[in-house]
Amino acid sequence: MTAQILHIAIFAPLRPLFDYLPCNNQSLEIGMRVKIPFGRTKKLGVIFAIDNKSNYPINKLKKIIAILDQESLLKPIDLKLIQWAIHYYHCYPADALAVVFPKNLRIERKATKKLPSAWQLSAQGRLIVVDDLAKKAPKQAAILNALQSKPLEASTLRLTYNITSTTLKILHQKEWIEPCEITTKADQQEKEQPPILHQEQADAVNAVKQSLGTFQAFLLDGITGSGKTEVYLTLIQTILEKGQQILVLVPEISLTPQLLQRFQRRLNAHIAIIHSALNHGEKEQAWQQCRTAKADVLIGTRSAVFTPLPNLGLVIIDEEHDGSFKQQQGFRYSARDLVIIRCRNLNIPVILGSATPSLESLYNVQRGVYQNLELRQRAGNAVLPTVQLLDIRDKYLEAGMSQALLEQIETELKKDNQVLIFLNRRGFAPVVICNGCGWIADCEHCDSHITFHYKNNQLICHHCGYQRPLIPACPDCGSHALIPLGQGTQRLEKALEKKFEAYPLIRIDRDTTIKKGSLAKMLDEIKTGQKKIILGTQMLAKGHHFPDVTLVVLLDIDQGLFGVDYRSTELMAQLLTQVSGRAGRAEKKGHVVIQTRHPDHPLLLDLIENGYQSCAKKMLIERQEAELPPYSYQALMRADAKTSELAHQFLQQAAQVAAELSEEVHILGPIDAPLHRKSNIFRAQLLIQTNDRKALHHLLHHWVYGIEAHPLAKKIRWSLDIDPKHFF
Ligand code: ADP
Ligand code: ZN
Ligand code: ZN
Repeated sequence: MTAQILHIAIFAPLRPLFDYLPCNNQSLEIGMRVKIPFGRTKKLGVIFAIDNKSNYPINKLKKIIAILDQESLLKPIDLKLIQWAIHYYHCYPADALAVVFPKNLRIERKATKKLPSAWQLSAQGRLIVVDDLAKKAPKQAAILNALQSKPLEASTLRLTYNITSTTLKILHQKEWIEPCEITTKADQQEKEQPPILHQEQADAVNAVKQSLGTFQAFLLDGITGSGKTEVYLTLIQTILEKGQQILVLVPEISLTPQLLQRFQRRLNAHIAIIHSALNHGEKEQAWQQCRTAKADVLIGTRSAVFTPLPNLGLVIIDEEHDGSFKQQQGFRYSARDLVIIRCRNLNIPVILGSATPSLESLYNVQRGVYQNLELRQRAGNAVLPTVQLLDIRDKYLEAGMSQALLEQIETELKKDNQVLIFLNRRGFAPVVICNGCGWIADCEHCDSHITFHYKNNQLICHHCGYQRPLIPACPDCGSHALIPLGQGTQRLEKALEKKFEAYPLIRIDRDTTIKKGSLAKMLDEIKTGQKKIILGTQMLAKGHHFPDVTLVVLLDIDQGLFGVDYRSTELMAQLLTQVSGRAGRAEKKGHVVIQTRHPDHPLLLDLIENGYQSCAKKMLIERQEAELPPYSYQALMRADAKTSELAHQFLQQAAQVAAELSEEVHILGPIDAPLHRKSNIFRAQLLIQTNDRKALHHLLHHWVYGIEAHPLAKKIRWSLDIDPKHFF
């Protein structure tokens, strides 16, 4: 009999798979987690393949120590996606596995630990009280004893018997109960009725319905407020009726509670959520519910693309243009692109929805790879807002706002409407300058100015997080006239509060939303009309539905019009359109005011006159002429080193290796990264570009091995970013 060889990916920064032998005759499957001897230590790994071939003499192979899973946590089809991603992004298997598995499953959990020791809620919803509960939690035991043998839902427990969800959570965390649904599963009768779809929505729904059970990517290109979410809901309902699961990817945690509530009001389904603000236990629970098909719908941020869903029937990726679907460190994957691969593997449709589709997706529509579904009308009685460019050249400004603007704000507030003011810069002022000599406060660790924050008079670097108190005098000339220059959200908040005292204001930026759950609470306060002035950064641009906002103001956008790389125009057009789209989303008509010193800027004019679609078409033509993505393929190698020379030296050598490996590709650089020094580390980058994707990946495959072996590689930190989105 030939020996079984296990090819194992190890949770460690190592590129290859390692070969091991089974430890006993327990049956093994790919996707199982195992414990293995590794050098002088023990490590965890995942079986990626089982066959009877090894490049090593079989008698030299070691046996695994233990199998951690009774059944494989990943199906072959899940593993196929992961392996595809590892291959495509040229990363370590462990980097990918760190995203695939919740933390709790990446560490060894004591096999001896008994499952629930007190009481359990069985799958049928029956309480099973186990002996030592009375000792451990007499109060709960008393209640629970009274409930024995009644079929129950966790929500019933909570509602009828007043056991709070916190108690349930504690009981669950202590593993006294089985993972059970803690959110309330409202009754079927209470579900909200869907609206009657308008024609464009119905057409979109029908197109997708026809392709169920086959692979097809759809771009749902629907203007803000056109009813994309209603299209999703209708299709989700169809998939639920087939007994299948649905994966919905959203760009931001902040969108999950909002979407969750809307879904819960409508769907009679078990909805799980996965995002970075969950604790390890919650994440694992949601992951397992999906894997065991207890959850019907999963709403998640980018890493949810890997969650095992055995009956997956449809994937929706909302706000598909959003940059957060691309991970920027470690495993630099694009969830949007992986979703396509996953759906192709599974033969199911995928919907990419956006009011401002990415140029990649529009290009895929143009070349017939994606099917286009358009929603050009706002749903219900809502109409698109009117947009006005407000020229502020030579105008007197109050905290960055012109008098004309202040009057418009006041008029709306007096009508009891909400006003949304967008300023994409947090802090009080982005620059502190000495009035005596022109000295500017910089971060000591980065090539960057340092931002003044009002709270405790702190200077905070937005690149590295370094903080120090504002000094009383200029270090160069001793002058005490240190002036905060420019507008940040904090400064604007102060000015608006003074100006419009009677109207409650809410500021939404990274500084005000640090606490878990704070953003959801703030969004609620906006929805319920408690706040009248909504001030914030691009966090406000993301798909929120604020029905009472009639005026949207965009301040200080000029910098963004002259961006640093070829993607800036696309980003700017998306941001302006998305923020504007928060106005007039319901009965009341909306208006948008853009303050600018460049009222004849072609992008602004085109956006206002012809809309995003027209702009995007032009941008695509420009990309084609310049042979930039999506008309070519890129990989970016970054190097971080103690000195600039070292970073450059390394990349120069890397460039040489690449040049020897392939003539098919253009090698651009090395150049300094736009932020050359960050946290006292010098950063440089090398761009590889080609029209031939195969040639690129062939090159990269050999390149990474060559570079890893290079002596300089140990002195610096390097990384490879496939299809890079940001050049910073
Ligand atoms: P989007 O996701 O495109 O921004 P939504 O689905 O959130 O748009 O719809 C915007 C608003 O219009 C929501 O309040 C929604 O309930 C409403 N709406 C959507 N479709 C319809 C329809 N067919 N009839 C009436 N109202 C609708
Ligand atoms: Zn000075
Ligand atoms: Zn810094």
